[in-house]
Amino acid sequence: MRRKLIAGNWKMNCLKADGLALAKAVFDKTNGTLPFDVLICPPMSLLGQVAAMPHQIGVGAQDVAVAPKANGAFTGDVSAEMVKDLGASHTIVGHSERRAMHHETDEIVRTKAERAIGAGLIPVICVGETLAEREAGQAIAVVTKQIRGSVPASATAENCVIAYEPVWAIGTGKVPTTADVAEIHGAVRAELAKVLGSDIADQMRILYGGSVKPANAKELLSVSDVDGALIGGASLKIEDFWAIAETQF
Ligand code: PEP
Repeated sequence: MRRKLIAGNWKMNCLKADGLALAKAVFDKTNGTLPFDVLICPPMSLLGQVAAMPHQIGVGAQDVAVAPKANGAFTGDVSAEMVKDLGASHTIVGHSERRAMHHETDEIVRTKAERAIGAGLIPVICVGETLAEREAGQAIAVVTKQIRGSVPASATAENCVIAYEPVWAIGTGKVPTTADVAEIHGAVRAELAKVLGSDIADQMRILYGGSVKPANAKELLSVSDVDGALIGGASLKIEDFWAIAETQF
């Protein structure tokens, strides 16, 4: 039985006062027993302070360094070990904004996921096709290739999460049909079975991300093989983030 995961990606948002207030609001909502898991990923600038607040949910980074060492001459980078040391439990890797703006290849994403697992963090490995790729009928081919290239051999259902995020749905208000989501999530799970074996693939959580809002969350989260949501814009308002989570009670 896969427990749903409701995850917020704050991206490069929130100065200290707003970010700590938002974290506190999420932590207040989640201080009891819940029938699903919750994760928030604040910007690196706030990660240590947020992780140091009393909480019962996951707190993650949005990226970790690809560098081969935990310390060293890698100016501006923050290693997985450093993120773990701040008190984090997870990290996003391979978000499409990093793949596009920082030219991150599948190999880089896989290495980051390996570093995260090695440091005791759970990577949320993002995959997803562009609009041009979808319109060319290439969505499944692109996403399954990303799975083959980005998921390390050390991944298990306990130490790794996948997020399918069609690039054209991120921050746009557009969402795929539930049939399209089901098709891709099914293809992702089938590819995970080829790469990691069906026991691991059956238990690994595959999140959907891309314009998840309170109005569409219940429908998207009820699609087969959808095990939670990775939420960008709507994770910045506690009312919206919690309205999405509340669909899972
Ligand atoms: C994201 O950034 O991972 C995301 C899904 O963003 P949004 O919910 O704003 O589309």
